[in-house]
Formats: sequence, structure tokens, C-alpha cells
Amino acid sequence: MPNRHPMIDRMKQIAADVASKHAPDVDRHARFPVETLAALRAEKALSAAVPEEFGGAGMGLRDLAAMCAALGQGCGASSMVLAMHHIQVGCIARHGAHSAYFQDYMRGLVEHQWLLASMTSEVGTYGDTRSSICAVDIAGDRFTLNKDATTGSYCGHADGILVTCRRTAESPASDQVLVLVKKDDYTLTQTSTWDPLGMRGTVSPGFKLESSGHVDQIIPGSYADSSAVTMVPYSHVLWAGLWSGIAADAVSRASAVVRAEARKRIGETPPSAILLARVSQDLQSMRHNWQQVAAEFDEISADAGRREELTTMNWALRFNQLKCACSEAGPRIVHQALQIAGLMGYKNDSPFSVGRHYRDLLSASLMVSNERIAAKSASLLLVVKDD
Ligand SMILES: Cc1cc2nc3c(=O)[nH]c(=O)nc-3n(C[C@H](O)[C@H](O)[C@H](O)COP(=O)(O)OP(=O)(O)OC[C@H]3O[C@@H](n4cnc5c(N)ncnc54)[C@H](O)[C@@H]3O)c2cc1C
Repeated sequence: MPNRHPMIDRMKQIAADVASKHAPDVDRHARFPVETLAALRAEKALSAAVPEEFGGAGMGLRDLAAMCAALGQGCGASSMVLAMHHIQVGCIARHGAHSAYFQDYMRGLVEHQWLLASMTSEVGTYGDTRSSICAVDIAGDRFTLNKDATTGSYCGHADGILVTCRRTAESPASDQVLVLVKKDDYTLTQTSTWDPLGMRGTVSPGFKLESSGHVDQIIPGSYADSSAVTMVPYSHVLWAGLWSGIAADAVSRASAVVRAEARKRIGETPPSAILLARVSQDLQSMRHNWQQVAAEFDEISADAGRREELTTMNWALRFNQLKCACSEAGPRIVHQALQIAGLMGYKNDSPFSVGRHYRDLLSASLMVSNERIAAKSASLLLVVKDD
């Protein structure tokens, strides 16, 4: 894919110069990647998804995913933070653009490069993002919102959090809205630890949130709509993009081992080069999957009259299938890379190590469980009309 937005090249630079240098320490200590975030802020990368009319780069989903893929080659956790931030900004830009409050908020985000986190998970909803127990409580023009979240990536480092909740205390679990809560207006109490296998730099323990704010901070419309046409498409495409970046770095480490081998026996093709050819084709399929879905999404999004198409069962299936396919391809590709690199890839202190890549990618099928997604796809497939 040609590099379309100059921001993508700048991400490659940040990945090489900053993210990859700090990634081992971020991973070892399960600490937030402060250096990479500082570099992203300096490039105004946190407003990449803000429309140009509000001062942002106005990048579409394909370019945003290419940004995440580029950064993912340096540090998977940093790229996951960037992806999750873009998802929140995407929700505001696509569902709040007619609100004077969110227009101002986006201008502020461009200027101050605020970082946004997400709280969709909740104790008691068992990973089902489309149901909430907590509710926003409105009195006059103010609200209070309290939530017990099982997982809250980098919430301790964010400037704001988008929180799912029921519309009112009387609403059913699935009648949800998205609420922006701002750092000065919330307190967080950490309720669990964060010592996972991978994606350690996302720093994602559980938190109890207590917040208040102005009713204008409630994103207009329903979460049912913003989830279908923005949150799910952005999540699945951007995650697939960053997972392909992590996988690409593992393949590039394996390929360095093969090339070193080839240099020792000029004129001979090392046997591992065949494996490299095979893993490269899997990586290409993975990339093409998200690039194609993102390109079609951008085409539809550019035409306001076609936006409803994104709510069809066929599109829901495509986003689900993209997520499941790429989250399964990622670890498989790194596993293949490990077979190619051998011990050089297995040793944690080797420059060809793929240990972090492997562990990071094991989170892919859990970040909204593939089984949960497959169950939804299964019920859609029983009734959907073929494309
Ligand atoms: C790195 C990382 C960062 C995260 N960051 C955030 C964040 O910032 N904010 C946030 O809110 N959340 C975050 N999450 C949480 C995430 O979005 C999910 O809510 C969470 O991973 C789901 O947890 P679970 O697997 O325990 O729950 P579940 O989805 O309930 O899964 C539990 C088990 O039930 C099985 N299962 C569930 N449904 C079905 C079904 N229909 N059929 C068959 N089996 C089923 C699953 O396979 C699994 O074995 C993050 C998760 C990770 C890994």
C-alpha cells in the first residue's frame, strides 16, 4: 500500500527512534510508554482522527490503521494505546460533530493533545460491551456517573475517558450512551493489579470510576448506533492494523536471521528461506484483509447518504470476521517467525527475539473474546442474505 498521509512516515520514524528503543523496558516493567506518547504529542498524532475543520489531520480509517501498523513495528503496547485513543476520538468526531460542546472539545484536543481512554468493560457484564449495569444520573444540566470497570487501559495516564453506561437508571441494560468524563472531574480507585503476559505497557488494571460533568458531555444518539458504525469498525480495523505491525516486525527479525545465514553460503538458498516465503504470504493476507475493509469503510463514510450501510448484517459480519481472522493470524505468523529464527528468536536477550511479539499478540483473541464474536456471527449467518 502506498504511504498516503505523511503522518504514516512520521510514525515509522517514531517506531524506529523511540518506541522500539523503550519497548523492552516498557514490557519488562509493565509501565506506560511515556517516551512514545511524548513523541506522538510532539507530532500532533493524537489529533490525527479529528476532522480538518476542527484543526486535526482528518485521517480516514485506512490511514489511521497504517499509523498503528507502523508504530506496532516498534512497540505493540504503544500502538495499542494509540489505536484505543483513535477509537475514542473517532466516536466523538463521527457522533459529536454537530454538538457545539464536542466541536470545542476537538479543538482543545488538537491544541493540548489530550489522551483518551475507554471504559466499556464492567464488573458483572462478563465481557459483553453491549450491556451496562451503571447508569448516568442527570440532575438539571449536570450528571454523575460511577462505574466499576474490570479493565481500563492507561486510565491512570489519560486526560479523559469515554464510558459506556445505561441512558437512565430505569433503562434496560442494552439502552446505552457514551459519556466523556474529564480528568479534573473524576477519581479513579484501582481495584486490581496488571501483570499480564503481554500488552504490558497498556497498563490496564480494573478501576472504580466516580465522575460528574455537564450533560453536554453525553455523546448525542445511542451507543447502539455509535458502536455499530464507529466503535466496532474502528476497533477491529485499528487492532488488525497494529497486530499486523507486530507480526511484520517478528517476520522482519526472522528474515534477518535467514539473510545472515545466506551470507555465510553465497549462492545457496537456506532451507529456512522457504518458510520465510510462506510466512510472508500469510502476512500479506493479513494486511490486505484490514486494508480492504478500511478502504471500503472510508468510501462509505465519505458519503453521508450511505452511512446506514454500515449497520447491515453483512457489514457486522465483515467486521467480526476481520477481527477473528487477524487476531488468529497474528500469533500464528509470530509462531512461524519463531520456527525460522530458531533459538535466536527464542532467547529474550537476542536482537532477533520474538517473545514480546508473541505475548502481545496472545491478547488479540481475548480483547473482546473471539468465541463471543463468533457466537454473534453464527446467529447472523443463519439469517443474512448473501452479498
Ligand atoms: C490488553 C487489553 C486491554 C484492554 N483494555 C480495555 C480497556 O481499555 N477498557 C475496557 O473497558 N476493557 C478493556 N479490555 C477488556 C476487553 O475489552 C474485554 O472486556 C475482556 O478482555 C473480556 O474479558 P473476559 O475474557 O474475562 O470475558 P468474556 O468475554 O466474558 O469471556 C470469558 C470466557 O467466556 C467465553 N465466552 C464468552 N462469550 C461466549 C460465547 N458467546 N460463546 C462461547 N464462549 C463465550 C470466552 O471465550 C472466555 O473463555 C482490555 C483487554 C485486554 C486484553
